[in-house]
Amino acid sequence: MSKGVGEYQVQRDTGQDYILWTENIVKRFGGIIALNKVNIKLRKGRITLLIGPNGSGKTTLVNVISGFLVPEEGRVVYKGRDITRLPPHDRVKMGLVRTFQIPKPFQNLTVLENVMAAAEGNPGENPYIAPVYKGKWRRFEEEQTERALEILKWVGLIHKWDSKASDLSGGQLKLLEIARAIMKGADTIIMDEPAAGVNPVLVHDLFSRIIQLSRERSVTFLIIEHRIGLVGKYVDYAYAMNMGEVISEGEPEKVFNDPNVLESYLGG
Ligand code: ADP
Ligand code: MG
Repeated sequence: MSKGVGEYQVQRDTGQDYILWTENIVKRFGGIIALNKVNIKLRKGRITLLIGPNGSGKTTLVNVISGFLVPEEGRVVYKGRDITRLPPHDRVKMGLVRTFQIPKPFQNLTVLENVMAAAEGNPGENPYIAPVYKGKWRRFEEEQTERALEILKWVGLIHKWDSKASDLSGGQLKLLEIARAIMKGADTIIMDEPAAGVNPVLVHDLFSRIIQLSRERSVTFLIIEHRIGLVGKYVDYAYAMNMGEVISEGEPEKVFNDPNVLESYLGG
């Protein structure tokens, strides 16, 4: 029996479990069509890559998916719900987080403190309520600390828990971003050029952790990159965009070697 697309279900056509997809997204800026009937799908617990030359529409698509732009046509479905018009913070509450939505880490706080600061609803934040609920608050804080330490283990930063954020390398800062997103409740993480500012030798370390999180914690990733091939070997599926359209999709190797994709990088 096939149910409507708006209901939570495993995609029957392929047997694969998609947590988020777009349907024929159209976004215009004045006369420019930035997105022209774009369809992408994110498989749960997998890493999807979005590539394309400058101006191809990657950021616009991510803005539509995360709620900073409302498209003229089409819709975004997340966890079986039409979220096309849902404000960004409500998408965050559902688990869909773009790492830039998490405030920059406090340089003079420790790694653990920074992860803790990403959590919401700490009753200790309210100076009037806190004394009344002291016991409750303390237990809440203990639980939050345990959770933060657990997440630091997952991302491989546990040995840095007591270091200042200012002492972290570029790659470790990306891992801290991911840890903070997960602490905030994210199970679907969108990252724009995570390899930028990371020593190329350490890109492997960063992506090994991302793969581990996808496989062991079922975290879904959408990664935007315009440098073709840089992170290709770490991802499960790739979409290539050009001039507002998806021009190729599939296994990363196949997409990178698609003549249309190679040509799109030479043009412009
Ligand atoms: P990419 O991230 O792949 O480099 P963008 O999504 O930023 O591409 O841009 C896609 C197209 O939409 C480009 O032609 C760009 O100039 C245009 N565009 C993006 N944002 C705006 C905006 N706020 N106003 C007008 N045009 C925009
Ligand atoms: Mg961009």
